[in-house]
Amino acid sequence: MTTDTHFDYLVIGGGSGGIGTANRAAMHGAKVGLIEAKHLGGTCVNVGCVPKKAMWFAGQISDAIQYGPDYGFDLNRDEILKNFSWSKLVESREAYISRIHQSYDRVLGNNKVNVIKGYGRFVDAKTVEVDGVQYTADHITIATGGEPAVPSIPGAEHGIDSNGFFELTERPERVAVLGAGYIAVELAGVLHALGSDTHLLVRKHKPLRSFDDMLSDTLVEIMEAEGPTLHTHSVPKEITKESDGSLTIHLENGNSLTVDTVIWAAGRKPHTHSINLEAAGVETNERGYISVDKFQNTNVPGIYAVGDNIGKIELTPVAVAAGRRLSERLFNNKPEEHLNYDNIATVVFSHPTIGTVGLSENEAIERHGEENVKVYTSGFTAMYSALTSHRQPSRMKLVTVGEEEKIVGIHTIGHGSDEMMQGFAVALKMGATKADFDNTVAIHPTSSEEFVTMR
Ligand code: FAD
Ligand code: NDP
Repeated sequence: MTTDTHFDYLVIGGGSGGIGTANRAAMHGAKVGLIEAKHLGGTCVNVGCVPKKAMWFAGQISDAIQYGPDYGFDLNRDEILKNFSWSKLVESREAYISRIHQSYDRVLGNNKVNVIKGYGRFVDAKTVEVDGVQYTADHITIATGGEPAVPSIPGAEHGIDSNGFFELTERPERVAVLGAGYIAVELAGVLHALGSDTHLLVRKHKPLRSFDDMLSDTLVEIMEAEGPTLHTHSVPKEITKESDGSLTIHLENGNSLTVDTVIWAAGRKPHTHSINLEAAGVETNERGYISVDKFQNTNVPGIYAVGDNIGKIELTPVAVAAGRRLSERLFNNKPEEHLNYDNIATVVFSHPTIGTVGLSENEAIERHGEENVKVYTSGFTAMYSALTSHRQPSRMKLVTVGEEEKIVGIHTIGHGSDEMMQGFAVALKMGATKADFDNTVAIHPTSSEEFVTMR
């Protein structure tokens, strides 16, 4: 713990954005204080990307076991899942996370960032108080992230949220996931793959509605064939606890479903309500997100915000990139440095995965007019599952605009979609056209070769 109380740069929140900006500022010679209330690494490392991906990898192993018999392995997935040890998986996952904590401590230490443990609240626009000690700084960044938002229906408290999911020490036997976004789809996929009787309840007609229709429609098709059980038009009205400890979800459509565990995954909210923003004069919008310009400046000079609390794109690499660029601007004499939030690629770790960058077909039509948009698609069975009795569709789409067929959207669902998207995102970001894709010789046999062979 530092005894210094004045810094060039004070960062509130040691998650993805906070650590990214603190380290970069310190590398440029700034004296930096980083305030963290819980664990370094924030949501992503502790209750987000990292533990989620560990669970997803376990799900991948389970999926692979299902293909085993057709590949000549004498494996019975149902039998193997009966003996699956959720607690062993959690133990390995948490040991990995504690190694990440150590690595963060090391890197922050090497960069001479002063880590201040405790919860920070503004006293005024230049001062933040942590456990009764007041710290001042010339520049302050708010990187406090977000937290799960649970709808306020009667009995909502009987459910857990994504943080609670990562606290589970045993596999829930019957589980309902309530929500329709990334988290709902990912957690439901993992639970189903690891052998829980899993129900995904969405309030509209399908999950991932904001994604290109090809992606969400294909995911629904695969869920219908393989699970988890999808319940559409299912708006929870009340959750009651039964005498045997089970939970019944009563839906507005009159149906009900009884399970052992209910997981809320119906969105997140910014963590900005209890940091005394009013004392600093920092403005938020009506949902609590901090208003910033393209340079991450808030309305108060010398106070900035990055990451999930600004209501833009809630992804770790976005928070890190915004934070690092901010430090380049403030401490490395690059006055124009800022993050361009356009065309950021993303992956949903569903079963199978979804990779996407740029405009959906509908967005492209809306923005450029139907007559200017040409779409190329491909549908096939990835070889991985094609020689098994569990054939699974893969689908891909290129959205192009104008006579030169500039690529404005790349979308894929199917085995391997997660790892193939990063490189294609570079091509889109560089302004590639369909002809550039056609001029690229395929890698065979892969799924990604479909992107350069579409007719
Ligand atoms: P956070 O990482 O949330 O960090 C904020 C930190 O600030 C926390 O450590 C908190 O304790 C601390 N804090 C808050 N208030 C104070 C205070 N007043 N004083 C001191 N400390 C404070 N993104 C991806 O890119 N890929 C994924 O696969 C992915 N999976 C996800 C899975 C789940 C289940 C969830 C919930 C999120 C996932 N995300 C993923 C999103 C990603 O985790 C976030 O976008 C990212 O963590 C945002 O970083 P941040 O720095 O804004 O906030
Ligand atoms: P999302 O914003 O992705 O999805 C939440 C969805 O839940 C809404 O779109 C809505 O869908 C549905 N919903 C909202 N309110 C209710 C309600 N009252 N009852 C039932 N359903 C409701 O939020 P998530 O919490 O899933 O994820 C937050 C963010 O974290 C993501 O946007 C993403 O940026 C990030 N993340 C990234 C991951 C990755 O990179 N792989 C993984 C996990 C999270 P509808 O309107 O269709 O009902």
